[in-house]
Amino acid sequence: MNRKTIARCASCDGFGWFEDDADNCDWCAGAGYVYHAAGRDSIIPEADYPAVADELEALELERLRELGYQGVAKQPWRQRIRQDTQLGRNPYENAAED
Ligand SMILES: [Zn+2]
Repeated sequence: MNRKTIARCASCDGFGWFEDDADNCDWCAGAGYVYHAAGRDSIIPEADYPAVADELEALELERLRELGYQGVAKQPWRQRIRQDTQLGRNPYENAAED
């Protein structure tokens, strides 16, 4: 029963960094996730990343879904909600005319 599980970092909630100071989270070294074993969290060493990449990606997808992420990154001017706002204008629209 020594298998380590991967858990979302309790300190940064999976973000890996803090908005305030843009520093990496000390708790998870910026990974957003930690090993959780025997009731303790520990940093996932960078050397382990390839081995846990699939699991991390699955956890990250799950987290993004919780945040309401739909799986597609849209540029602001392609988002319907931005239409008729300043952000809704494509800044590159007229770039080719110079
Ligand atoms: Zn963290």
